[in-house]
Amino acid sequence: MADKQTVRRIAEFIEPLRVKPGSRVRLAKDFDPGFKGGMKKREGVELLRTGVELLAEYQARLAAQDTHGVLMCLQALDAGGKDGTIRHVMSGVNPQGVHVSSFKVPSIEELDHDYLWRYAARLPARGDIAIFNRSHYEEVLVVRVHPENLDRQKLPPEARGPDLWHDRYREINDWERHLTDNGFRLVKVFLNLSKEEQRRRFLKRIDLPEKNWKFSAADIRERGYWDDYQKAFSEMLSATSTPWAPWYVVPADHKWFARICASALLVHTLMDIDPQYPEVGKKARKALRAAKRDLEDEAPKGAARDPYAARHRR
Ligand code: AMP
Ligand code: MG
Repeated sequence: MADKQTVRRIAEFIEPLRVKPGSRVRLAKDFDPGFKGGMKKREGVELLRTGVELLAEYQARLAAQDTHGVLMCLQALDAGGKDGTIRHVMSGVNPQGVHVSSFKVPSIEELDHDYLWRYAARLPARGDIAIFNRSHYEEVLVVRVHPENLDRQKLPPEARGPDLWHDRYREINDWERHLTDNGFRLVKVFLNLSKEEQRRRFLKRIDLPEKNWKFSAADIRERGYWDDYQKAFSEMLSATSTPWAPWYVVPADHKWFARICASALLVHTLMDIDPQYPEVGKKARKALRAAKRDLEDEAPKGAARDPYAARHRR
């Protein structure tokens, strides 16, 4: 279990990344994608390892307590590092308790429902951690930047009023409030990449054969909408960073630093929940002792001298 000092250090580390609820974000001015908190990469790798270890421990307790669930939403522009972040942050956890969902262009069936339907279907159960690789926030990002996506959603005219985006922000905030009120915590992470670093990563994807599959011509087309996306992200962050589900803007130009931040954010949330292994009551302990005696009586001769059994004899 983490000591008080570690808890405080992690809380201090993530504080500058938090979007203050009610504040007005202008991404280009307010957050530096190259920020790394004065940290060296070597220290960072060490810190990430600590984060991964803590995560494994807290995940086990989250599952045992079985009252809370955690949802991490990852948003970024192309090449922002979502996949790598998930791979690294979750490297030490029990796969049974983690579910990753990636959201792509919606299917015909998904378009036949309200826009939150497909995300609701992927929410974590109590005791679980879910990760959304892209999330319900696409509904106010790509759908806003490319309105033809909205046309495909078959909305009735009364649902396409002039306040559509503000209505969606409100609906999303209400939905998240409902989730947190019911024991599900959200960790909302925006991996904030600079245009120059995206250019470099795209070039790498083109130059290295093993990265070719990650690149498509559509990525260049999307890059052409850079400013529209910055604006949509800024508005979204301003409108949906709430006291119950704040946004964190993670500097993403240094992959290793982004991973530490994501790990710290998840660990911080778990520490805040502080799940415990359930303690068994007097009656159950008595039953455990009786079961132990029965099992020991069954042992073949000499087995009681087994060093494990001897050490655990009560
Ligand atoms: P990727 O994550 O690179 O595999 O790409 C997934 C694609 O799905 C991206 O181009 C997203 O913009 C797109 N996408 C995700 N969610 C939505 C949505 N709700 N409506 C339209 N396009 C979406
Ligand atoms: Mg892609």
